[in-house]
Amino acid sequence: MDPHQYEKLIFSQEVISAHFVGPSGEPVERLIEVRRNPITFRTCRITLSRSQEKEAGTDAMPPPPPDVTRTSICPFCEPQLQTMTPRLYADTFSKQRLQVGGSKLFPNLFPYGSYSAVSLIDANHFVEIGKASWSSYRDSFENSIQYLHEILAKDPKAVYMAITQNHLPSAGGSLVHPHLQVNADRLPSNHQRFLQKRCAAYFRRNRSLLLSDYLARERENASRYIGATGEWEWLAAFAPEGFFEIWGILPGVTSFEALLDDHLTGLAQGVMNTQRLYRSLNRNGYNLGILVMATPASRLELRVVLMVRSNYAPWVRNDHTGFEVMLGDMATFTSPETTAKEARRFW
Ligand SMILES: [Zn+2]
Repeated sequence: MDPHQYEKLIFSQEVISAHFVGPSGEPVERLIEVRRNPITFRTCRITLSRSQEKEAGTDAMPPPPPDVTRTSICPFCEPQLQTMTPRLYADTFSKQRLQVGGSKLFPNLFPYGSYSAVSLIDANHFVEIGKASWSSYRDSFENSIQYLHEILAKDPKAVYMAITQNHLPSAGGSLVHPHLQVNADRLPSNHQRFLQKRCAAYFRRNRSLLLSDYLARERENASRYIGATGEWEWLAAFAPEGFFEIWGILPGVTSFEALLDDHLTGLAQGVMNTQRLYRSLNRNGYNLGILVMATPASRLELRVVLMVRSNYAPWVRNDHTGFEVMLGDMATFTSPETTAKEARRFW
């Protein structure tokens, strides 16, 4: 391993091939592209020959999940929300449940860390991918950030923050009622620990921010650049670690506190554009994540990552095979340049 790799930004890709005798006796060569993620150094595979193959369950949008009509047993629907969800402590937070527009936020009954909350998108029990209003997502992001802001005022060491979304059970969601998860802790996650070190080392060496420099390289290259929503700029990930992976980067902004109203709007609009892309591909489940270190020294700029997950439908295969779980390389089928081309229609 290059001892200085944390200080560098390298886009590397290599095509390898597999040779065999085809079923009809003909010689076959299959190409596989191995790309290295310029930020994490992790390698991934793009098995281009599989792009011709139709993924099971994606011929049409799957029907809505069975729980879409079960609003009377959903703890996130009114009136159950009042009696079935927990409340924040009044001495730490401004309200027992925070609210922005139609978004309500309350603690996660099954927390992942010291501060763990659920931020509802709004009161609607089920909204299909790509069908929500961007303003509902904007409200939910604002609510999440308000919660994180209040945590920091009370516990300044809880600097490792994340906003994530699991849309539908195939992406890890336990309830179909659309919501974000909001987390803050004194202990970093693996990705936060890595990114903190990576971005700091890069800045020390280059006196510039890693994600801004990544974005500048991608603007110049243009093949994976999708478009902008306000100051947010959107790209297909160079070395995807999920299907149809899209990044939104807000260059130069390293904290949620520095976010302006227009930034929240741009974030929500880009997320909805991405959802509309996923809908056009007949995909109904996805994950979203934004990681932040709330310290003045943080050199990690705001970046939202979105990726499709296996459809939530019967008989669909999981998108993590033995290759991902055991070898640690994500294998996707579509080139990021094709993903970007498809996505531009929604910007
Ligand atoms: Zn509900």
